[in-house]
Amino acid sequence: MSPKATLCSVDIFLLVLLAINAIHSVASSEESKNSINTPPDIARYDNYRVYHVELGTAQHVDLFQELEEKSDSCTFYGHARHPQQKLTIMVAAHKVADFADLLRTYNVTHEVLSYNFQEIIDRNLQEVRPKDIEPKAMDWKHYFQLDTIYAWMELLAQQNPQDITLLNMGESAQGLPIKGVQLRRNKNETATTIFIESGIHAREWIAPATANYIINMLLTTNEPEIVKYANEYNWIVFPVMNPDGYTYTFNGDRMWRKNRELFGICRGVDLNRNYPFHWNTTGTSGDPCRYDYAGPAAGSEVETKRLIQFLRDNVAINNTIKTFISLHSYSQMIMFPYGHTAVRVDNYNDLTEIGRKASEKIKQLTGRIYKSGSIYETIYPSSGGSKDWAHGVLGIPITYSFELRGPPDSKELFILPAEEIEPTAQEAFAAILTIVEESNLRGYYN
Ligand SMILES: [Zn+2]
Repeated sequence: MSPKATLCSVDIFLLVLLAINAIHSVASSEESKNSINTPPDIARYDNYRVYHVELGTAQHVDLFQELEEKSDSCTFYGHARHPQQKLTIMVAAHKVADFADLLRTYNVTHEVLSYNFQEIIDRNLQEVRPKDIEPKAMDWKHYFQLDTIYAWMELLAQQNPQDITLLNMGESAQGLPIKGVQLRRNKNETATTIFIESGIHAREWIAPATANYIINMLLTTNEPEIVKYANEYNWIVFPVMNPDGYTYTFNGDRMWRKNRELFGICRGVDLNRNYPFHWNTTGTSGDPCRYDYAGPAAGSEVETKRLIQFLRDNVAINNTIKTFISLHSYSQMIMFPYGHTAVRVDNYNDLTEIGRKASEKIKQLTGRIYKSGSIYETIYPSSGGSKDWAHGVLGIPITYSFELRGPPDSKELFILPAEEIEPTAQEAFAAILTIVEESNLRGYYN
């Protein structure tokens, strides 16, 4: 072996050592950055593509209806209904070629929003804090798991016993508590109650994050304009109405929407299609394997029953719940009943005007555009939603559901970057205060 060759082998040996070292240090710094451990059976979306298509013709509508019906590899966000409609569809990696061929063959206008959806999920998982983190670590720059949210609410109740009461509606289908908080500074029995629920749809993480922000702001702010609302009204907030589904988005499938009830080979009822008001009449599915399965019967689900019982008990006792808000994502919309019909509710004009002012408030604050109107007119027909039931059956006059950020053509779908939590929550809270103020001015709280 020549000296030169020996030198070379040493060089190679050193290089290999350096490379191994480098791989190790990258891996360990990745690990320390990784906020949560990856469970072994977690769903992955590597090379799944997200398309935004425009259905130009009646033929396109028929084709995409058939595609949704037949293909388990194309996940639709909304159903094909009419020409000129825009639809977001996620396509499994092994179906990309077939799907692209379909678009070309039938000349469908489209845009690829994401070429690898797993990248968006991976980035999002870096923004999640571990579930055993101290509850005082709660902030609006990360996403938090159920245990932390509940521990944080308990902490608030302990630290502010005069103001905050911890509430529990009872257990979910899989035995998790459905917890909320009440902020009650106005001890008058007849004080108007504002009820906020979020997290009915598991993957819409921005909704519980926004609900938590609202609780925190009401409790801690010194801004006189907000303190006024915290002192005058009774606020009840349930951030996670679907704790089984929410938990499953962390340890199973980030894109899970429904509850986790078992129906043969598939799980889950879309809880926002399960309420007993014109149940399963439009915008729902009777198939438990579909994302908008309405359930085996009206109001069949444990989580639905809990909310109904809670609201009935509270409305029946002193009839103080005058406003009901449901938080969802995404699409940037502020909507009021009904979802199942174009027939207008009695106070349609007031709800239209109040919704318009709430949207206007957001535009002033952050420049974001939120569309407002009835559900049927604004997003798509649907039946069995909680706010339709709250209005139509329980008679709560002011009910709105929010679709929070991102915009309708969002590349991230439900995976809103954590840096947007705070501005999203700020604008939603400002809009809710506008709704409360306007409802009061119009005499709804007398
Ligand atoms: Zn939703």
